[in-house]
Amino acid sequence: MEKASIGTKCVQGGYRPGNGQPRQIPIIQSTTFKYDTGDAMGKLFDLEASGYFYSRLQNPTVDAVAAKICELEGGTAAMLTSSGMAANFLAVFNICSCGDHIVSSSAVYGGTYNLFAVTMKRMGISVTFVPPDCSPETLDAAFQPRTKAVFGETIANPALHVLDIEKFAAAAHAHGVPLIVDNTFPTPVNCQPFAWGADIVTHSTTKYMDGHGSAVGGAIVDSGHFDWTQHAEKYPGLCTPDESYHGVVYTERFGLEGAYITKATAQLMRDLGVTPSPMSAYFLNLGLESLHVRMRRHCENALAVARFLQGHEQISWVQYPGLPGSQEYPLVQKYMPNGTCGVVSFGVKGGREAASTLMESLKLIAIETHVADARSCCLHPATTTHRQMNDEELAAAGVPADLVRLSLGLEDAQDLIADLSQALSSL
Ligand SMILES: *Cc1c(COP(=O)(O)O)cnc(C)c1O
Repeated sequence: MEKASIGTKCVQGGYRPGNGQPRQIPIIQSTTFKYDTGDAMGKLFDLEASGYFYSRLQNPTVDAVAAKICELEGGTAAMLTSSGMAANFLAVFNICSCGDHIVSSSAVYGGTYNLFAVTMKRMGISVTFVPPDCSPETLDAAFQPRTKAVFGETIANPALHVLDIEKFAAAAHAHGVPLIVDNTFPTPVNCQPFAWGADIVTHSTTKYMDGHGSAVGGAIVDSGHFDWTQHAEKYPGLCTPDESYHGVVYTERFGLEGAYITKATAQLMRDLGVTPSPMSAYFLNLGLESLHVRMRRHCENALAVARFLQGHEQISWVQYPGLPGSQEYPLVQKYMPNGTCGVVSFGVKGGREAASTLMESLKLIAIETHVADARSCCLHPATTTHRQMNDEELAAAGVPADLVRLSLGLEDAQDLIADLSQALSSL
């Protein structure tokens, strides 16, 4: 499957049934697994043998879907989590402890911003936010002696900034730390961060990967490229014995290809339990089977709607990275030439009030705290997802108060345009 192209991996990756086995991934809805001897199970607890014993740590259905996402990203190991937030938290917390520091692009999802700026700060892990379009010098100056990771979003939700992955990877690697990239919006169908130097990829699978608004979930994929042992003093959790696992050294036992994900599973899943249900993993897999087909349609609809809005007199500005001539377009041509995502943001003349009148006048497009669904939806971030931020923080995150975020689904473009057109005429 490694050589197969992306669409084939979407359909058939991860799970390969043997003779007479179910064609579709079986839902192993079991919390636990039976063994003939205590000794056999003990070997699993000691990480000396691989196998299943308790679904908080690992489950065959969940693992099969993680393996598909691993193939899609071109990684060496992957795990699913109960949500995208859990994925971002584990991805960072797996290599950071109290007193450590991370550098993050300021253009990140509101929940992730809050996780870094508030919740992880309470755990003693500090963050320096940098604008995604900052100079290499500004980026360099953000590092501290205890910086352990750099974080960014390939296409920021909802600012729609495109990350210059190579610039962020070069800075991270110059300081001996990995680049973690949240690749939720373009998905591996449209962007492959590992090809540009990212070391770890996270996803909110809740979005396009699921694609049908069915199951909240997340994923973490390791490229296997980052050499923890070269910076062993920074990453004692990976390079020195884990006393909670009888002294296992993850990099020695599992190699660069497996150390990071094994530690996150064995330690963090064990202790934090942010595991997805087998049923949710099954729904996610149904979505993945058509991801490559759906992404194309989401992008076509978004481009058609962006063009319509751009020409409309009631609209003050339109941002869609896939729009030729957009500020992001040069980065789009480099990192995601085949498409970006189905999300368009725009400002309505008349500000906040006009934005809510417009949204309430829409008939097909629903007001939802969601994006990347088969059904088109819209949201006003300043009064909902980003309401914890003040105006300066909103501006730094690229989410002005008049921004309406519109997620184009899989409907026919002419119907979506007609809906927007009638709503705009009511202003
Ligand atoms: C939605 C989202 C998240 C959070 O994911 P959940 O599945 O809602 O927990 C993280 N990053 C990005 C880019 C997102 O769009």
